[in-house]
Amino acid sequence: MHEFELIAELFAPLSAGFPGALGLTDDAALIPAEPGFDTVATVDAMVAGVHFLPDDPPELIARKLVRVNLSDLAAKGARPFAVMLSASFPRTAEPGWLRAFAAGLAEDLGYYGIALIGGDTTSTPGPLTLSLTAFGRVAAGRAVLRSGARAGDDLWVSGFIGDAALGLLVLRGDIQVDGQTAAVLADRYRLPRPRVELGLHLPGLASAGMDVSDGLVQDLGHLCNAAGLGAEVESGALPLSPAARAVLGAQQSLLATVATGGDDYELLFTAPASAATSIEALGIGLGLPLTRLGRMVDGQGVAVRDAAGNLHAFAQGGWRHF
Ligand code: ADP
Ligand code: MG
Repeated sequence: MHEFELIAELFAPLSAGFPGALGLTDDAALIPAEPGFDTVATVDAMVAGVHFLPDDPPELIARKLVRVNLSDLAAKGARPFAVMLSASFPRTAEPGWLRAFAAGLAEDLGYYGIALIGGDTTSTPGPLTLSLTAFGRVAAGRAVLRSGARAGDDLWVSGFIGDAALGLLVLRGDIQVDGQTAAVLADRYRLPRPRVELGLHLPGLASAGMDVSDGLVQDLGHLCNAAGLGAEVESGALPLSPAARAVLGAQQSLLATVATGGDDYELLFTAPASAATSIEALGIGLGLPLTRLGRMVDGQGVAVRDAAGNLHAFAQGGWRHF
């Protein structure tokens, strides 16, 4: 299957419903301006062997690629509407693999109601390398930024932290857990749940926000730096799924994996204490746990303490490429 067949057969159908995509037959796409809105853009690359396992199912690789980008848009409070895909496939990629990849892409673009409006396709002598650019819209001036936290704000996080990082350990065979727990955790590594709906509610409610992708402690450090503040977190407040609780019950040292492991794709946000009731009600309305982790303080850096007030010393706060 050469690249023009690939584009016409597998990718062009995913542009339906977005006239400016021109059916993926022109040099570029046209994105109509929407008065009263800011367009929010983000790009994330995924490389085989770094962001996913080379033999992961192609459908899930495609869906993860979409979802990690939607997580960034959600963190800004934006509603996603389009993506562009730059893909470098190994020459050895089989048509069946490519079809499965496109099917996964189709499934999630359909689920989230967004169009594929362009991209680039090349071959590579190296590992599969993918890059997706995602576009969303938010009411003009209302995007949730990393920089808006104030001292005294509560610090909130959505969902559960640590499942994906534990899932990666399970997939690598680094920890042994029962079959059911393994399945739950591996699924959380392979298929993030971007908090798109939650994100849409954050403008006007959150003072600052970001998504947690590279490890909670490191990412929270970015939120702190952006505001020139510090953060106090109680480790007992970290929201753990039943699966993670079971794993940590047997091996307490895995708390570091949970707090710094990454791939959570949850939203971390700050809000004044006066917003707490609204945030709790929002979590109930969305059926999504929203947990108060701690608070923003004058100073700098992230302090994670146990119930007795002792500081946890983590070797590193999160994932680094270099
Ligand atoms: P050009 O040579 O002008 O870059 P291409 O032949 O690379 O044009 O692309 C033709 C059309 O196909 C363009 O609309 C481009 O956006 C689209 N396209 C190419 N690769 C992809 C891809 N991986 N995903 C989505 N659209 C793609
Ligand atoms: Mg061109």
